[in-house]
Formats: sequence, structure tokens, C-alpha cells
Amino acid sequence: MALFFAVTFAVFWKMGGMKRHVLGFSIGYTFFAAGYLVTHFLPSNALYLFHTTQVLYTIAVIAMVTSICERVGQRVHVGLLVAIYIISASVLAAAVGFTSDVAPRLIIVNTGYGAMYIVGLTTILSARRKNLIDLAVIAVISIQAIDFLVRPNLTLMYERSIAEEAYRESFYYSLIGLVLGVKSVLGAMVLLGATIVEWTTSLRESSSRDTLTGLHNRASFEQAMLQLLPRAQKEGRPLSLVVADIDHFKQVNDIWGHQSGDRAISSFGKLINEMVRGCDTAGRVGGEEFCIAVWNCPNEPAERLAERIRQAFAQLSHAGLNDDIRLTASFGVATAQDGESYERLFARADAALYDAKSHGRNRVENAERERIAVPESIEDAAERPLRAFKPAVAQA
Ligand code: GH3
Ligand code: MG
Ligand code: MG
Repeated sequence: MALFFAVTFAVFWKMGGMKRHVLGFSIGYTFFAAGYLVTHFLPSNALYLFHTTQVLYTIAVIAMVTSICERVGQRVHVGLLVAIYIISASVLAAAVGFTSDVAPRLIIVNTGYGAMYIVGLTTILSARRKNLIDLAVIAVISIQAIDFLVRPNLTLMYERSIAEEAYRESFYYSLIGLVLGVKSVLGAMVLLGATIVEWTTSLRESSSRDTLTGLHNRASFEQAMLQLLPRAQKEGRPLSLVVADIDHFKQVNDIWGHQSGDRAISSFGKLINEMVRGCDTAGRVGGEEFCIAVWNCPNEPAERLAERIRQAFAQLSHAGLNDDIRLTASFGVATAQDGESYERLFARADAALYDAKSHGRNRVENAERERIAVPESIEDAAERPLRAFKPAVAQA
């Protein structure tokens, strides 16, 4: 079973492009499997049986504990886990030399694993994120800790001592087979569930994210807007839309190459992402065009947000471009009116952006402030005057 789980997690990690902790689960189950096999097939009075299995189980426990903590963004103190192993291995060596009774050995090694799980438990409990799956994982770790710390003592209180040769015929050995089986399946089911949830979330996110900036792609942004507009209307909250377009971008590509252009787009996207609030939605809706849905935000604060982003972008230096070159962007802002469709709101914000372009670029125009004629037809749009040409890029 452990080998089966090891393979399953490895396949998820490799094929699903998942994070390192999933590989950690696979490594954990591989070493558990190795430990079970050694316990079962090596002679029970073999000199190094307990030491060998202790090394294998310790690697397994460390892999599991660190991966489970890493999954929720916590770093476990690996040095502490290694210290527990060293102490436990030293006491075990003394016990093996002292008596051929297996009982003390079992208590020593299991206490070590229990202590490691306690370290994991305290680490994972300090993580902020605790959704339902995280709680299930916490429960699994707690069961592991309690099992390792309590079960050997309880069983051996009943059985007292076990001779090396009789280990596999002991009540302890039958019980451990059952308990490990149940624990393996239970733990693997929870971790597998957690992995599947992460996998589907990452699939959903990657299909709605723009790879260059990490923001929503156009389809996903429009989808979000179609939900936000009626919600804003229903809750009576203002919703503003900011559209932005980098100025003279064709020439950035022409002069410094497409790759440098891509990097500039990426920097602008990251800047936007840093400057909006968690409740806002930002997307890259075209080559170097961005949209921000500013949630619960009236017109003027949205205009000020656009202005802050404009200023911040105009100060950014860009790798691949000359040091003294600064790029700029133009912005249009509009705030949703009663019952307004996304198309209409976007058209008004885009018309304001167009106005910003024709008024010299590197500026914010507000659809609610200016009277901007929104073209009703393609013919109207074609009649717009050509955008004023300015030097390709503003010198800092
Ligand atoms: P304006 O100030 O009027 O916006 O001038 P502009 O040159 O930026 O004109 P426009 O916005 O119409 O042109 C966008 C250009 O951006 C066209 C294309 O060469 C470039 N572009 C579009 N998508 C990408 C992209 O993904 N990467 C790069 N490097 N360039 C892109
Ligand atoms: Mg442009
Ligand atoms: Mg453009």
C-alpha cells in the first residue's frame, strides 16, 4: 500500500507539475515501505534490524513532516528532527547492547517518531491558513503523534516483554501491522485529497491567468466583471473601471526587442498587482493593455489610484532598456452607472483612455469628468483623429 501511495504521489508531482511537498509525500511513503519490508524480511534477531528500520522510518517521518508543513508555507526545524533521531538512536544502541528484550527498543524508537510528529504539529498549528483540508491534515498528524507516543506503552503494558526471536509472533507485531495499515490509508487519503484539491485549483488558476504577468487573462477578467457588476448593483456599492495602455510600445519592441518589451509588460503587471487591494480584480486584456475593476470604490478615489499607478510606472527602470529610459502609460477611468453593461462601461473607460492618448499620453482621463463621445459605430471610430506622435519614450 505504501509503495502504491508513493507511486501515486510521484505521478501527481511529475505529471501534474506540482510543488515539492507532493514529491516529499512520495519519498515519505517510499521509505515507510522500505521500513516495513526490512522489518518483515530481515531476521528479527539480526544485529542491525532496529537501527536499519529506525533510519528508514526516520527519513520517512522527516520527509512527511517537512512536506506537510511546507504545504501550508511553514518551515519545520529539520535540525530539531535530526537531534531527536540522534538522541533516540543513541538510547536505542544502549538498549540493544543491554538487553535482548524488544520492548524497550520499541518504546525508544516510537517515542522518537512521536516527538518528531509533535514538532510537526506545533509547526503546522502556527500556520495562518486553516481550511477544512488543513484541519484534516492536522488531525492526521495528531493521530500519528498520539499513536507513536501511547500505543507502544499500552501494548507493552499488556505484553510486558518480547524476546527477539518471538517478535513476529507477538501480539505487538500483529497490532502494529493493523495500525500501520489503517494509518497509512487514512493519512494517504487525506494527503491525496489535499493534493487533488491543489491540483484542480492550480489547473483552474492557470487557465484563467496570464502567464507573463500573473494577472487575470482577458476572458477571466471579463468573466469576473460579469459577476462583479450585478453584485455591485445589488449591494449598492460603487464599482470603477481603470483601463491602461503603455505609451508608444511598438517602438519599445522595435528598438529594444520583443523580449525587453515582454519584461516591461511583466513589470507593469506586477506593479499593478502590488498597488491594487485584495478585493480588486486586475487583468491583462491585450498586448500591453490592462484593466482594473476597483471594487467598492467611487470615481474619484479610482482616478487617484490610476494616478498613483501612472506615477509609479513612470519611475520604473526596465532591464534591457537604456538606463535613463522610462516608459509611461495612459489611463482611462469610468464608474459603473445604474444598470450599465460591461460593454458600455468598458467603452466609456476606453474612450477616456483614448482621450488621454490624444491629450499627450502619460496621463489619466476620467469619463465621469470629461464629456467624451463614445463612438456608436465602426465608421464613427474610424473618423477619430490620429493620435499625436511624441518621441518614442520619455527620458527620465
Ligand atoms: P500608444 O501610445 O498609442 O498606445 O502606442 P503603441 O505603440 O503602444 O500602440 P498600441 O498600443 O496600439 O500597440 C501595442 C503594441 O504592443 C503592438 C505590439 O507590437 C506590442 N505588443 C502586443 N502584445 C505584446 C506582447 O505580448 N509582447 C510584446 N513585447 N509586445 C507586444
Ligand atoms: Mg500602447
Ligand atoms: Mg495597446
